[in-house]
Amino acid sequence: MNRVILDVKDILGEVGLEERYSFKQDFAPIKTETTKIEFVEPVTIDIKVENTGAGVRVKGHIKSALNLVCSRCLNEFSFSVDWEVDEVFSTERLPSEEVYAMENSVIDLGPPSEEAFVLAIPMKPLCKEACQGICPICGQPIDKKHRPHEEIKIDKRLEILKGLLKSEEENE
Ligand SMILES: [Zn+2]
Ligand SMILES: [Zn+2]
Repeated sequence: MNRVILDVKDILGEVGLEERYSFKQDFAPIKTETTKIEFVEPVTIDIKVENTGAGVRVKGHIKSALNLVCSRCLNEFSFSVDWEVDEVFSTERLPSEEVYAMENSVIDLGPPSEEAFVLAIPMKPLCKEACQGICPICGQPIDKKHRPHEEIKIDKRLEILKGLLKSEEENE
């Protein structure tokens, strides 16, 4: 589990005090039950932490890009995630689903960030909306390099035709 530890003691003196944090941090791959999700760039954390009295409220953006496999063409691609953070960390003992625990003056943005990144992954990731998948004839991805097979056949016929015309000319 990745940890993003912030000590917010500077704003705990008075309700309403706030502090901005802006930094980048490398994340280790997230292991889920079925797969391992790798990051292709460091995680950018750009947030504001506000003292709400019973804890702190964190708002801002936590961003990165994940290495996913396209469900159609099976190519790996970079998937950008921009999580709009709005989370409450509480000093109260029982953390519910919406509230994370704050230990003394320390909060850990790691677990909610990992959860947000995993939740952002589509059920069927696509390298691009128009991905054509894999060609059933040659088994290669249907991308810019791939030529439709019909066209190749037509070209061959044209070549044969050209050859025939040529030999006719020669015969005249
Ligand atoms: Zn694809
Ligand atoms: Zn093909």
